[in-house]
Amino acid sequence: MSSKDLTSKLSEYIESCKKCGFCKAVCPVLKVSDHIETYGPRGRILLLQGLYEGLLKPREYLARRLYCTLCGYCSIKCISGLELTEAYLIGRTLLTENGIVLDVIGNLIKSIVSTDNPYNVDPSIKAMWIDYLPEKPPTKGRVVYWAGCTTSIRRPDSALAAYELIKSLVGDVAVIDSEPCCGWPLYLAGDVVGYRSQVSKALRSLEGCGAGVVITTCPACTRSLRDKARELGIKSSIKVYHIVEWLYELMKEGKLPKLQLEETITYHDPCELSRHMKVFKEPREIIRSIQGLKLVEMRGNQLESNCCGGGGLYLALDADKSSNIALNRLNDVPNGVKVLVTACPSCEVQLNTAVRGKGLELEVLDISELILRSLNK
Ligand code: SF4
Ligand code: SF4
Repeated sequence: MSSKDLTSKLSEYIESCKKCGFCKAVCPVLKVSDHIETYGPRGRILLLQGLYEGLLKPREYLARRLYCTLCGYCSIKCISGLELTEAYLIGRTLLTENGIVLDVIGNLIKSIVSTDNPYNVDPSIKAMWIDYLPEKPPTKGRVVYWAGCTTSIRRPDSALAAYELIKSLVGDVAVIDSEPCCGWPLYLAGDVVGYRSQVSKALRSLEGCGAGVVITTCPACTRSLRDKARELGIKSSIKVYHIVEWLYELMKEGKLPKLQLEETITYHDPCELSRHMKVFKEPREIIRSIQGLKLVEMRGNQLESNCCGGGGLYLALDADKSSNIALNRLNDVPNGVKVLVTACPSCEVQLNTAVRGKGLELEVLDISELILRSLNK
């Protein structure tokens, strides 16, 4: 979209917002920011209105305020039905096009360009989890497991479990040992040109290894490699699934073996998966199919799930507030539950760090780890 089209789209949001403030009640960033209006959804729309009307100049202050977790909860509560995260992303893009890029975000973009991941770690470290597999996996094949940067670097145990799970269900699974970044952080940073180039590179690398089906444990990678790429007209014949979607399809086709585990768990809905991709019934059906397992819901679940604070590049921008959001989320864990399952590596990292910070006896697992345990019983 050109700047003119983006500005015109932004004007639709500004005109449709009734400034009622119903969206404010659920904003996790507002809660950890002393309820200062400009940290919340209505305040962000007012700031964007100021930018649109020329009352506010594109500057760092404005860029900072446009960074929230992009959890999308405000959109669920908006009386005008506005998809507010899109408005914030338009704002980020317009500021980036005006040359306003915060240092921390600029460094993240540079890291993707130079190391192919947003963590600025050597690509060999990102691929290190592969060395811990019992056998060297093929690098070409029809079914490919795409770990993504966060799972590979921050949650390698989940990558190992996901790989083992997929292998036990379909046989041969390939991995790319020099997997590029999927480009999603660039999209979130308002660098749409950079995103297009990076996601095309990622899809080319998958095509190069003969992939027909790609399964990932990261909802952000799914949105990037499939949904956003498709929306922007980037063509690919590869079928991309989040592992929950893929397991659900297997279950419906009767191809999921018997699952059994004596455990009481709770499930945290990742915002990207539940609110943005509308995948919240599927994980529950899979979990409930495990014999012996009891699922106790968290306060705030499915479309009304509370955020963990890890999305939208917010962790990079304000680590303290981001962790406070994660600590708040732990208050929603039902009493007596010892296992917290989720389906996103960023949520896992956030919640696990908060659990350790609070000294709780709570194990945080990816859904692949849970299903693998249930298969092995
Ligand atoms: S997307 Fe989430 S964090 Fe951002 S303004 Fe809306 S409710 Fe707040
Ligand atoms: S609920 Fe919707 S219409 Fe009301 S202030 Fe929030 S964004 Fe505007």
